[in-house]
Amino acid sequence: MIRVAVNGYGTIGKRVADAVAAQPDMAVVGVAKTRPNYEARCAVDRGYPLYAAVPERADAFAEEGIDLAGPVEDLVAEADVIVDATPGGVGETNLPLYADHGVPALLQGGESADAVDASFNARGNFDEAVGADAVRVVSCNSTGLARLLGPLDEAYGIEKARVTLIRRGGDPSQHGRGPINDIVPNPMALPSHHGPDVQTIFPDLAIDTLALKVPVTLMHVHSVNATLESEPSAEEVRDRLAEENRLFFVEGGYGIEGTGALKEFALDAGRPRGDLWENGLWAESIGVNGRDFYCFQAIHQESDVVPENVDAIRAVLGAADAAESMATTDAALGIGEL
Ligand code: NAD
Repeated sequence: MIRVAVNGYGTIGKRVADAVAAQPDMAVVGVAKTRPNYEARCAVDRGYPLYAAVPERADAFAEEGIDLAGPVEDLVAEADVIVDATPGGVGETNLPLYADHGVPALLQGGESADAVDASFNARGNFDEAVGADAVRVVSCNSTGLARLLGPLDEAYGIEKARVTLIRRGGDPSQHGRGPINDIVPNPMALPSHHGPDVQTIFPDLAIDTLALKVPVTLMHVHSVNATLESEPSAEEVRDRLAEENRLFFVEGGYGIEGTGALKEFALDAGRPRGDLWENGLWAESIGVNGRDFYCFQAIHQESDVVPENVDAIRAVLGAADAAESMATTDAALGIGEL
């Protein structure tokens, strides 16, 4: 069994821990938190040994009646691999701790690409992470774009991709980001960071991205245009994309006309926390006009990077190849079964 530690047990970390626990070849050796909040309580209830991310704050856990297994250094020493899901910018500062213990680490999209050996998307560049000491699983938006643009580029060639990202204002628990009532070009000037981030996976892809923030917490939506190098029919493209397990086709007949209904569907389907690990690609929106491909896709910011983290664990340890790892991850989580 691969022994996995999760440092930073928030929105991403808690989801990765549960996905790891569901894998046939992995076990969670523990999770580390800074504060004894509701997530700490739930971690203990789930049976994850809980470690103090900041040892000086250990007393605060005792005051809340939460038992700790030790300081984060002890957790790192127990692990074959660390998933660092601390807030953006913190993960990089933890790299020396992981290096001291000789344990490979996965960072998240909020960290700089320069801090790691490779940025990662399972479908896009699995092999670049094999044997790496530090890997960054790219952000939720970059993950969603890589899953869509990778297969399109392989099948038809992409001359140029242009994407407008309508970004959620914050996650449901981030009350500090609201209440708001606005539509904010963010950043105002081209490019948003997403295009360059996708190029950490596909360096030769020509892509421009624009982004706006809107006052919702549910999901992001991408409005995608890609000029292809050939001229397939819309039906051909639909059939090709339908082969991708991590693209969920939202069919017209479902009556899912927005991200609210999509999130409700994920809840009704029994997904933990209402998570949609796949891209939600509206089938009716797939169109081709000459060489121009168009579509709308929804990205559940809290969860689409979760299967990618699981695959990155196998990649850094050389425990499976891309196809094997993605198949194992998807089967364990039920991806492709919606
Ligand atoms: P979060 O704030 O929900 O969770 C971070 C957790 O780390 C919190 O529990 C916090 O208390 C804890 N923490 C803070 N400082 C710490 C430290 N020094 N050591 C250990 N733990 C510490 O953040 P998140 O949304 O889960 O984001 C984590 C990373 O994932 C970031 O790089 C972010 O950019 C990336 N990411 C976030 C999203 C998203 O939409 N939430 C999507 C994809 C990627």
